[in-house]
Amino acid sequence: MTPTGAQPLGNLALLAADEPPAFEIVNAQGSADAVLVCDHASNRIPRQLASLGLTPYQLLQHIAWDPGAAEVARRLAARIDAPLILGGYSRLVIDLNRPLASPESIPEQSAGVPVSGNCGLTPQARDGRVAALFAPYHQAISDLLERRAGQPTLLISIHSFPPVLGDERRPWPVGVAYGRDRRLADLLRPALYGAFHRVEPVAPRGRPAELVDVVGPVCETSDFLARRRELERPEPGDLLAVRDAGAYAFAMSSNYNMRPRAAEALVEGGRVRLIRRRETFDDLVRTEI
Ligand SMILES: [Zn+2]
Repeated sequence: MTPTGAQPLGNLALLAADEPPAFEIVNAQGSADAVLVCDHASNRIPRQLASLGLTPYQLLQHIAWDPGAAEVARRLAARIDAPLILGGYSRLVIDLNRPLASPESIPEQSAGVPVSGNCGLTPQARDGRVAALFAPYHQAISDLLERRAGQPTLLISIHSFPPVLGDERRPWPVGVAYGRDRRLADLLRPALYGAFHRVEPVAPRGRPAELVDVVGPVCETSDFLARRRELERPEPGDLLAVRDAGAYAFAMSSNYNMRPRAAEALVEGGRVRLIRRRETFDDLVRTEI
């Protein structure tokens, strides 16, 4: 563990010498093909900011942090041997997960709760929070990813969600939100704990096998379905079967970027049965109004 603190900024120094650093790094040399980050791990407020005018009860609520997320992130980091970077201070001081130009970066209210300590801030005060907390945290993530250049790395951010937001109930125990990288959405288990999904040509051509990576259609990211497999080289239009062997893979798949999801077949003894046909474009737009 190598915690590093924010650099003092003369009179602008937000953190006293005896306060915890802007972030914490756990298991920096972890061997997993993943880096975990936890932006909203802490509800701590720098002493100088006098709790931002909030009560201890308010600081325990989701407006100040993601309750439980740090503990989940630490356990996951240990379980898969991944490096983990945790933010050291409350999202109300400056939100590590929002662009600096966002009104939610240093919110004057959150979920209807006024945050008096964030009202009428001078540009210097805002800059002080960026320099003390936001910049070091993101620099630490960049440095860690830089050190791992050449090693496949899935960046996973751990959050927790309030079970009710406004009028909306959120009954799900787990959610996976993602950008362009489908590994977590289509095949969660290989990414998280190295589950192995067999990949085979549907109609083998009898060619010699080559060592290949099987990738998805999002060419600008590391969209991998399988790495270093012995597989004969397919022709354009050939079908590959990805054996999922379980309920999770399809249940978590996505049609992000208007890509129809794959068909699903059930193999039972010696019989194969189509149990879900491939999605069409019409399927994707059917519920649009
Ligand atoms: Zn969060």
